[in-house]
Amino acid sequence: MSVKIKNNMMEVYNPINGDALESIPITSSDDLDNALLLAKKEASIYNYSSFYYRKNILTKFRKAIVKRADELIEIICLETGKKSIEGLMEVVISLEHLKESSKYLYEALSKQSRRSGTLKTRKVWVEYEAMGVAGVISPWNYPLILTISPLVEALLAGNSVILKPSEHTPLTARLLKTIWDGSTKAQNIFQIVYGSEQVGSRIVSSPLTDVICFTGSTSVGRKIAETCASLFKPSILELGGKDPMIILDDANIDRSVDAAIWGGLSNAGQTCISVERIFVHQKIFEEVVSKLKGKIKSQSCGFSRSSIGAITVESSLDKIKSQIDKVRKFSEIVEGSVEKGPYIAPSLIINPPIDSEVFKEETFGPVITIHPFKTDEEAIHLANDTGYGLSASIFSKNTKRLKYIARRINAGSIGINDVLTQYGIADLPFGGKGLSGFGKVHGKEGLRAFSHQKSYMANRVSFKSELWWYEKSKGVEKILRKLIKWQYS
Ligand code: NAD
Repeated sequence: MSVKIKNNMMEVYNPINGDALESIPITSSDDLDNALLLAKKEASIYNYSSFYYRKNILTKFRKAIVKRADELIEIICLETGKKSIEGLMEVVISLEHLKESSKYLYEALSKQSRRSGTLKTRKVWVEYEAMGVAGVISPWNYPLILTISPLVEALLAGNSVILKPSEHTPLTARLLKTIWDGSTKAQNIFQIVYGSEQVGSRIVSSPLTDVICFTGSTSVGRKIAETCASLFKPSILELGGKDPMIILDDANIDRSVDAAIWGGLSNAGQTCISVERIFVHQKIFEEVVSKLKGKIKSQSCGFSRSSIGAITVESSLDKIKSQIDKVRKFSEIVEGSVEKGPYIAPSLIINPPIDSEVFKEETFGPVITIHPFKTDEEAIHLANDTGYGLSASIFSKNTKRLKYIARRINAGSIGINDVLTQYGIADLPFGGKGLSGFGKVHGKEGLRAFSHQKSYMANRVSFKSELWWYEKSKGVEKILRKLIKWQYS
């Protein structure tokens, strides 16, 4: 169990041993309305702040996080059941994003000149404005990085922020807010509210939020997309995935196998871009399977000396077990060891039916399926067979084949001879397509996603009137006809 909600309180538990950690009051409707009104008021000033000012605040915030890194790691692990190295990695990646995104702020959001085409007397440019108030709704699987990344992008782009962390992991976000309040003199441009679906949906539908950045499941993402569409409110939706890994016959087999283990099992598979399905060229299928079997058997999930941690949300345990059980009679399943508690044995499922849930639906656990393929076209077809389109990885030494396959995979990002690492690179836009959502976080695109692009045009010289205005001279039609030939033929 990670949270119990009763009497307007969220009781947060350590998912490993069930120890009560803390109780946090759910933000009441009145308090949420007040927070939204305050965010709007703050936005009326902060939206027009200089880049220098924004960068300065975020530098102070980053330095304060460095000082309290150990506390953050501890609280992340307590409320998620992660291993301490995983908490540490979250802090490192968060700081990397914080530092780097401030660096490309000017490049991303400064005024940009554009070409005026045939109209040489016009000067044209675009400017990026803050949207107003950003509503940020985050999940539990990486309670720090998935909160910090959209928070910082929204703030750098000049928006005030209302953040709602997951009800399963509110303590990390609360510590983050304490660090913010203690290190900046801009307490109100970032406010935090607590609760689950009800509080989240009120943020989305409120007329006081101007953009929504949601990271979470595809099913909730669909509801948010519907609400935002009806309100014409921009949204960035970072949703679920079912990432494929394709291993071609010329790949470095040992690296591919180790990458599959890391990509599929780290954070107990509770990573949106974790490797859930592997496709291996038939020539090397037996060798890859045999090596993977050995590695899976040597992995264990549990509290003590295991390298793989807990399943954070209790209800996920049944879902993952049910996906595995449904294919038991059709497929060979190789398992590592598992301790008693909220853990799932690391599992490799060989050749499950391709219409099974474990092949089609997000599993979000330490479970990997594996299938052979004969041709590159078949690998592409299998990889694209779920409707998700978050990320994918391809292992090969052949640049031509890599490029051919990569371009045909439905995914927002591709790792070539690597997995997961792309998420940590701050300047690389991140986001999915299809059931994995739309819009980008990270990189210059992430900052622009929280900005309204405004187009400007000004006259270099102002004549009394223009050739094409009313009372135009008779020759205009003639000139325009000539223009067609001179300029465009
Ligand atoms: P979830 O959709 O259950 O919840 C996410 C957040 O939305 C929580 O804060 C929750 O309280 C809130 N919420 C729930 N219903 C809502 C509603 N109707 N309106 C507004 N907010 C609402 O997801 P989760 O279980 O917390 O997270 C796991 C999912 O997130 C997985 O599917 C995973 O793949 C996905 N995820 C995606 C990315 C990405 O970048 N694409 C990253 C991490 C996780």
